[in-house]
Amino acid sequence: MIEKKNFYINGKWVSPSKPNDFEVIDPSTEEPFAIISLGSIEDTDIAISAAKKAFETWRETSKEKRLALLEKFDQIYNRRWDEMVKAQSTEMGAPLDYASETHTKMGADISKNIIKIIKDFNFEHQFDPKSNNHIRYEPIGVCGLITPWNFPMNQIVLKVIPALAAGCTMILKPSEIAPISGILFAEMIHEAGFPPGVFNLVNGNGEVVGNHISGHPDIDMVSFTGSTRAGKLIQKNAADTIKKVTLELGGKGGNIVFADSYPNAVRDGVRNIMSNSGQSCDAPTRMLVQKPIYERAVKEAVDEANLIKVDVASKKGDHIGPVISKIQYDKIINLIESGIKEGATLAAGGPELPNGLNKGYFIKPTIFTDVTNDMRIAKEEIFGPVLSIIPFETEEEAINIVNDTSYGLGNYLQTEDKEKAHRVAKKLRSGTVYINGNGTDSGTPFGGYKQSGNGREGGFWGLQEFLEVKTITGWNK
Ligand code: NAD
Repeated sequence: MIEKKNFYINGKWVSPSKPNDFEVIDPSTEEPFAIISLGSIEDTDIAISAAKKAFETWRETSKEKRLALLEKFDQIYNRRWDEMVKAQSTEMGAPLDYASETHTKMGADISKNIIKIIKDFNFEHQFDPKSNNHIRYEPIGVCGLITPWNFPMNQIVLKVIPALAAGCTMILKPSEIAPISGILFAEMIHEAGFPPGVFNLVNGNGEVVGNHISGHPDIDMVSFTGSTRAGKLIQKNAADTIKKVTLELGGKGGNIVFADSYPNAVRDGVRNIMSNSGQSCDAPTRMLVQKPIYERAVKEAVDEANLIKVDVASKKGDHIGPVISKIQYDKIINLIESGIKEGATLAAGGPELPNGLNKGYFIKPTIFTDVTNDMRIAKEEIFGPVLSIIPFETEEEAINIVNDTSYGLGNYLQTEDKEKAHRVAKKLRSGTVYINGNGTDSGTPFGGYKQSGNGREGGFWGLQEFLEVKTITGWNK
């Protein structure tokens, strides 16, 4: 059993103010594998005051000093890669190869990208060569960073590294159900030698630590990734202190497969939704298929879903693992049952455990066909390996169906007609549109429209969220 009960505050590992042990469950076995502490309001206050004090000096550091520390962190992260793979694999059920090639690699790519961006970024410049006005980018202050469990390291690095690069100080509260990678991350920050108080980690739940962070007057900004439900609570709780709140929330992506799409479009769409066991915020969970190819598409989708293997995370291979928790498992099974009750056709998978697995939160890759956009499975974020297939006839109809959701994070479209692809991409209301299976480059902005959020993470746009911009007049007089 791993014991990681201390918090990282003011450059040291400190005991919580009162013991509050919490077991971390391995979703492949349903057994606890680690014990952490859940923090209190007092622990959070101590961390916030350490960050507030450290801000006075950290904000004045040169870009070169911050860069040198970030480069050191980057080397440590790469050296301790296998530990990071193991931590994420066990805590959230990502199979080892996926935990390395996707989860851990995302963290490394983001960190490298931010280092590159700030090398070229001018934190101050003349407004115009003829003007005496001067523009300065300054760190926003003390930041509360609250992250989810589905891509633990991706979410942490996307916030902490640009915040450090900007000159902010911070309190990180990772998801309490997948906290081990966050603790390892804090060890790496410590080893890199960031000054005490610049980065602090307090584990805990949302109701106590998260809530205290979002309402605290000494927190200048909250950067949150998680559910739309918690995002709304945070926004409300932050209102009295007028702090900046950036929200990266849920999604219900549509994937329009036109009749002229490339040959493997349906199979790729199925693989995409099932990866990470369906626990991706921008997963293409609603596949819209144009009627002339509907029957062929359904056959291919079912065949592909049945080819996907499900197994424990500790094995190497290209299978998918369990979903994170009993709560998520029950929610997904409930939604699968709602799809059956509401009259969708269950074409693959279903609510039973996959063959050969009697323990663990495993769900069969599941496909519903003949879904209509008013069914719960088409409206709610399922966050599991469940795909809804919806038939459509015209381009306009497909765009309307995709946009008919309260979310707007990632949408997808498949067609070999470039003009149509561009036309449709512009009409889809989401932060990202993926055409013909292409992925995004590290450093492009990521974020949502509508109830998928209001911020952008990644590259220059992610850095900018942590900066205030100041105009100083009379600079040259
Ligand atoms: P969650 O909202 O339950 O929890 C996320 C984090 O918020 C956790 O650290 C939790 O402890 C904390 N929290 C919960 N209630 C809080 C409150 N009232 N105040 C402050 N903090 C609170 O989400 P989850 O189940 O961990 O993650 C899954 C969700 O995250 C999905 O909806 C997914 O779409 C979303 N997500 C979005 C993005 C994105 O970039 N848009 C990326 C990954 C995940």
